[in-house]
Amino acid sequence: MAKCRFCGSRDVEVHLEYARLSLCVECFLKFFERKVDSTIRKYRMFPKGTRVAIAVSGGKDSNVLLYAVKKLYPALDLIPIYLNLGIKEYSDHCEELVREITRKLELPLKIFKLEDEGFTLDDVATTRFRRKICTACGLIKRYWMNRLAYEMKAERLATGHNLDDLVKFALNHYIHGDLESILRLKPLLTSGMDGKLVAKVKPLCEVTDFEDLLYAEYSEIPYRSIDCPYATGKGYDRRQNLMKNILTVMPDFRHVFFKSHLKRFLPILEKGYELEMQLKECSVCGMPTIREVCAYCRLKEKLTNKD
Ligand code: SF4
Ligand code: ZN
Repeated sequence: MAKCRFCGSRDVEVHLEYARLSLCVECFLKFFERKVDSTIRKYRMFPKGTRVAIAVSGGKDSNVLLYAVKKLYPALDLIPIYLNLGIKEYSDHCEELVREITRKLELPLKIFKLEDEGFTLDDVATTRFRRKICTACGLIKRYWMNRLAYEMKAERLATGHNLDDLVKFALNHYIHGDLESILRLKPLLTSGMDGKLVAKVKPLCEVTDFEDLLYAEYSEIPYRSIDCPYATGKGYDRRQNLMKNILTVMPDFRHVFFKSHLKRFLPILEKGYELEMQLKECSVCGMPTIREVCAYCRLKEKLTNKD
């Protein structure tokens, strides 16, 4: 019968195949928190006195991030931000959860409602952008999270991406040769344009999706119980199956692959490429862009111009 690797208890609940590790619940929770803490320290994600904005969506990953960071750094200047995109039922359900968890953690909460911009994501669904609604949604989220973090004088914007997310992104970018996206895929992406492009950090980048899920369950962290109605699932399921198949023959694939990306490929790629070079201020909103008008302002113009 397996014993907990750390305390020797026979109440083993968790088996982590990639590390051949069996743990009891208590030791797993400590193991998870130690891992997140070591990532934060290794990449100097929260230098002393830094104000940190956390993007919260009501999903398990961002709620786990919020809970773990607050537990590890109770005195940190932490501001959760929630974007209500106006997706019928779903957005309000998520907002309620975010309100609940921030209340429990006694954190201030910044809520932004997209309808204040004159449109919602449900409106986007009625236009020709319907077929690419997740692309438009991603653009809106990235823009507003960065802008709100900047306006609230945060020097870091933390997101709940875990190792599985990053490996899936990386595979996709490498397959399509998307060099710019490959260069942005790292635990800490530094700031630019005098802080207008807020530094992005991913404190969960070394924990797997399964570990995230277990941590949420064992810590009784609430998270959303319904899916976004626009999540069609086909592409997601295909990537999920591909990952499952790889992991059956190579359980440590995600760890090895992402380490190679960070330690072997990135340093060489970065030498020949300067990401920030082409940035300037959007002539409409003043936020960073490589074009005259940023992608968000162009999208907004198309959606709100009724002529
Ligand atoms: Fe946005 Fe929903 Fe698509 Fe997620 S699934 S990117 S919330 S539209
Ligand atoms: Zn703009």
